[in-house]
Amino acid sequence: MTTLSGPELDAFCIDNTMPECNNCGEHVSDRFIRVFGDEAGVVYACPACSANAGIGEATRERSDQI
Ligand SMILES: [Zn+2]
Repeated sequence: MTTLSGPELDAFCIDNTMPECNNCGEHVSDRFIRVFGDEAGVVYACPACSANAGIGEATRERSDQI
């Protein structure tokens, strides 16, 4: 069994997309990534953690509409 680490692990995670919030690790949808992610497909806040941080009103409202 091969143990992945560092860049290899990063590539593994990106290629096998079960997209997650980069901040809290909550799973997010592909659509959420497309709307809120950056060019690399990284999302820095999802409805779960952005709400906790008090910055998520717009994010949560928009995600409800996706
Ligand atoms: Zn999150």
